[in-house]
Amino acid sequence: MKKILILHTGGTIAMSENESGTIIPGASNPLMAYNQLFAGQYDVSSEELFNLPSPHITPKEMLLLSQRINQAEQAGVDGVVVTHGTDTLEETAYFLDLTLPSTIPVVITGAMRSSNEIGSDGLYNLESAVKTAADDDARGKGVLVVMNDEVHTARFVTKTHTTNVATFRTPTFGPIGIMEKNGVKFFQELTEQQACPITHVIDHVYLLKAYAGMDDRLLTMLDLPSTNGLVIEATGAGNLPPQTLPALANLIAHKIPVILVSRCFNGVAEPVYGYEGGGQQLQKMGVIFCQGLNGQKARIKLLVGLSAGKNGQQLATYMQDAIS
Ligand code: ASP
Repeated sequence: MKKILILHTGGTIAMSENESGTIIPGASNPLMAYNQLFAGQYDVSSEELFNLPSPHITPKEMLLLSQRINQAEQAGVDGVVVTHGTDTLEETAYFLDLTLPSTIPVVITGAMRSSNEIGSDGLYNLESAVKTAADDDARGKGVLVVMNDEVHTARFVTKTHTTNVATFRTPTFGPIGIMEKNGVKFFQELTEQQACPITHVIDHVYLLKAYAGMDDRLLTMLDLPSTNGLVIEATGAGNLPPQTLPALANLIAHKIPVILVSRCFNGVAEPVYGYEGGGQQLQKMGVIFCQGLNGQKARIKLLVGLSAGKNGQQLATYMQDAIS
């Protein structure tokens, strides 16, 4: 019988609604009581690693989670399920995807409705995640996000709706699998990626979004010796307003890696345009284009790469291509 470890970290899936309609965390996760749901099918054990709303999760918790999953794998667990708040789920999922060797299945899930709300999706998502973690076909696909009968890759999934249970989407490629009545069915393969194991996480890695009329104020404020890196969600295919350029040049001169992704929901950033502030000029200045990741994920990747000691060309190569 497959051994599945469930690691709870908090989030709406662990919360309940009180008489006044406010969603609040309880003293412990109500899903801890459900191990017996899987009796006879899987050998399931559960641990409550944290009980945090996901906006409270930091890269430090992500690292602890990654280390706990590594230990579990060495102890002979066949698959791991993580329950997590949905707000930052994609960041934790991608952190794990980057740092774990992707041998046993690691599946993250959550809920959009808390445990006692009508139509609560937590228990159903947990069951789908356990079935996926126990499936041999889930091996070697990186960290997976299972919600609302769909299987997405941690690399490309994003939260797209504030409340709808169908919130998790993979804009450019779609889900790689679906939940059927009898289990999971995959219909896309993911290109392989090398794990980047780390033992500590650095901080002061920032994320900014570009906007029409953006000037150099925010960029200048980040030009500090303590700043380790910056991701900018640029407009369109990867362009910035010209007023940002002097401050951008200063950041690069001060050896602060500047990574560029698109603020568009879909597609990849590419240095296409030759006008002032266009992608070609940005690339020539030393801005690193990161293809296929959204801003929050590019930030996690930059943080992991820097924490692993990458810099210069090695960091640029690491950041450039998320697709392969
Ligand atoms: N705000 C909650 C959290 O991320 C949302 C959720 O869990 O769905 O913890």
